[in-house]
Amino acid sequence: MNEMNEKIEKLRKIIEESDNIVFFGGAGVSTESGIPDFRSSDGVFNMKYKYPPEQMLSHTFFLENTRDFYDFYRDVMLYPDAKPNKAHLALARLEQRGKLRAVVTQNIDGLHQLAGSRTVYELHGSVHRNTCMRCGKHYGLDFILNSKGIPHCECGGIVKPDVVLYEEGLDEDVINAGLNAIANADTLIIGGTSLNVYPAAGLINYFRGRNVVLINKSSTAGGSRATLTVNGALGEVLSKCVK
Ligand code: ZN
Repeated sequence: MNEMNEKIEKLRKIIEESDNIVFFGGAGVSTESGIPDFRSSDGVFNMKYKYPPEQMLSHTFFLENTRDFYDFYRDVMLYPDAKPNKAHLALARLEQRGKLRAVVTQNIDGLHQLAGSRTVYELHGSVHRNTCMRCGKHYGLDFILNSKGIPHCECGGIVKPDVVLYEEGLDEDVINAGLNAIANADTLIIGGTSLNVYPAAGLINYFRGRNVVLINKSSTAGGSRATLTVNGALGEVLSKCVK
């Protein structure tokens, strides 16, 4: 048995013995669905726009360059045709089998729910929820997709995505629920993100359980905190463990 198969066998055993798994994921979970990580270093966004994505996705930019914000947001942040991949589907199956209690995610694409996951804590919000800043009326993703320029509510207010922008705080209820799930879990599986990056690095401090499993394509220094590190494609690894 090669090293990879050995690790997958170990993970399969951990899953078999756990009934309170929490999955924590980042952008790498959705790249297999064709949603690029805008923080990645390929520079594809930087070539097309005058400002770096971190600036265009900031609260200040939203206030001062609202129209440019929406043009960028519609162009780069919305992937209405993206489908859940093997990782999303395996995690949904784990929840249905009573193994997994929650998904805590930094992603805003809603693909976990589309795959069938029920308990999903979206630390950075969701592109599927959009709210009028004046009257509080809610709108779906289609409303933003079909709008031009600045999307306006029927009351005249601006409809803002419920997505946490740079300079904005995380929703306290969501982060508390996510922390609570992690604090009570017996196994924490981390995928598509590095343990070195906030908030993953902070969240792991709340974990009191037995197993920390890190699944990542490239090896990361944070792996030293993991009970098991699997260097492989997340969808492939999870679907092999969860038939
Ligand atoms: Zn309104």
